[in-house]
Parts: sequence; C-alpha cells; structure tokens
Amino acid sequence: MKDRYGREIEYLRISLTDLCNLRCVYCMPEGGICKLPHDRILTLEEVVEIAGAAVELGIRKIRLTGGEPLVRRGIVDLVARLRALPGLRELVLTTNGILLPELAKPLRDAGLDRLNISLDTLDAEKYRRLTRGGELQKALDGIRAAEAAGFAPIKLNAVLLGGVNDDEIPALCALTMDRPIEMRFIELMPIGDALYFGKEACIPVDTVLEKMPQLTPLPRGRSSVARRYTLPGAKGSIGLISPVSCSFCSECNRIRLTADGCMKPCLHSAEEFPLRGKHGDALRRAICDAVNAKPEAHIDFTGTQRSESARNMNQIGG
Ligand code: SAM
Ligand code: SF4
Repeated sequence: MKDRYGREIEYLRISLTDLCNLRCVYCMPEGGICKLPHDRILTLEEVVEIAGAAVELGIRKIRLTGGEPLVRRGIVDLVARLRALPGLRELVLTTNGILLPELAKPLRDAGLDRLNISLDTLDAEKYRRLTRGGELQKALDGIRAAEAAGFAPIKLNAVLLGGVNDDEIPALCALTMDRPIEMRFIELMPIGDALYFGKEACIPVDTVLEKMPQLTPLPRGRSSVARRYTLPGAKGSIGLISPVSCSFCSECNRIRLTADGCMKPCLHSAEEFPLRGKHGDALRRAICDAVNAKPEAHIDFTGTQRSESARNMNQIGG
C-alpha cells in the first residue's frame, strides 16, 4: 500500500488495551485511566478480522502493544491466529516484561517472532518511582524468561530522561557486552503525561554518543528507525531513536489501530478512522482511507510544540 507521498505502508501497530499493570510517569496519568467499558474494546475476533484485511492490502509486519498487551486475556491465542495470516512476515510485541515469566514460552510456541521490552533503569528505587510502584526484579526476570524461551535478539527500550536515567547510559549499554541484546534509547515525546516533565528531561539521544565515544556505527537495519552502534567486543548493539530531534516522517511506513477500533494515520495527529462494524470491501476501503490521510510530516517538536494527538501514549501504543 502506497500513501499519497509514495511511502510504502507495510507496518501495523495494534494497541490491544489501554490498561497496564504499571503507571509510568511519562505515559499514564497519576490517577490511572478511566477504564473503557468492555464493549468499547475490540474483541479478539475483530482484531483478527482487521489485521487480516490489512495484511491482504499489503501490511507485512504487525506489532502488538498497549497499554500492556500481556494483560489482555487470550493474548497467546491471538498471537497464534495472527501468525497464521498468509502474507504476514513479522509478528512482534512490545511489553514491560512483568508477565513474561509466565508468558514468554507460550508466546514463542504460538509463533511470536520478536519481543521489545521496556527498561528505563537498572536501579530498583528509580524503577519504582518511574513506574509508580513497579518491581525492577520482575522486569529483569521477564527479560531472562524471554531469553530462555529463545527470543533473540531482544530489544530493550529505554526512554532517555535528562536528570533521571542519563547517568545510567554506560550501565545500560554494558548489558549488550555478553548478550545479543539491542539496547535502544528513545527521546521523550511531548505527548499526554510526558508534557509535565520539565524541559531538562527532554534530551537528544546523541547524548549517548557523547557519553560513549567508543561506540562504532553499524549499518542501519531494514526499515529500522534506529541508528545502530556497537561497543568493542560486544555481542549486542545499541540503537538510538530520535523522534524529536530528527523526525523520520519521510521514511514512515506505519499505521496504528487503537484498542477501541480507530485507525490513526499518524501518531501525532488527532485524525482517526473508526473501523468498528466495517467488514469486507468497506473495511478495506476504510483502511485505505486512513493510509491516504497520512500527513507528509508531523509538527516540529524542537520548539515548544506538543503532539496534536488527543490520546495518551498508553492509548496508542508508542
Ligand atoms: N506497556 C508496553 C511497554 O511499556 O513496553 C507497551 C506500550 S508502551 C506505550 C510502548 C513504548 O512507548 C514503551 O517503550 C514506552 O517506554 C514508550 N513511551 C511511552 N510514553 C512515551 C513518551 N512520552 N515518549 C517516548 N516513548 C514513550
Ligand atoms: Fe504501561 Fe508501557 Fe505506559 Fe509504562 S510505558 S505505563 S508499562 S503502557
């Protein structure tokens, strides 16, 4: 599927739920969220139907996200059903890792190809503060369970927060020395609750290069938004993702489905296309309409601008 600007759209991110077992300060409101009534959330049958239509139209990669996708009941069965879609090349999932000790092996057996696990800090107290109550050890156990289940390479995502975890850049990079991990640093995007962070928290990911001059560049992965580097002698790699300091709109290949069934052509725009209740040709037409509505670029965040998205990150999935 090509959009109006000639970009090949082949990546669908599906948010399975707004709910989460953590409350990260940059993602979720402090008081939690208003739980969507059960009947507003797409059923797993509807998710499979929409994903199937999108794959027929040319989507080749699907990422399951949330909220926390692993709190969604039926997740393993959903993975197996999506994996069976003819034409789908890659099925991947982003998680905070807390439920991986129970779920890593069943997800692998159901055909999940890869996992991204969020890990902003290696300090238990900081983790508790950042996630408003989460236990670091559970996330670390989740990462180990994913490795034991055969997921490789595992990508670890850290949102880089000036004055909060930038002092841990060397320690986080060191995780790649003896394990085939890709440690990725992501700039904080000015969306939803991230807006309450002061300006000093929004630092460019090039800070990692300043603190780690020994990093050497690697070739960019196929359709990856990360600039990749490695430490001398390391088994893994480091990825830098700069949605704020250097937007990748010209290479954007993705569309997003919210848990309540709306297609978002762009993460940072308020425009949405409801898909619920549409089937067959009407569903495929609505997906094409969303693709055709992709803007050429989102607003420039380098000033004081904030995202125009009407939703918080836990409602979109990153
Ligand atoms: N709960 C899962 C997790 O945390 O990995 C999946 C959903 S979460 C919304 C997806 C990713 O978005 C996480 O890696 C999270 O750190 C990132 N994220 C959330 N809010 C963000 C923000 N304001 N700027 C940059 N990344 C953000
Ligand atoms: Fe939950 Fe992920 Fe948002 Fe943290 S970043 S609150 S784990 S959805």
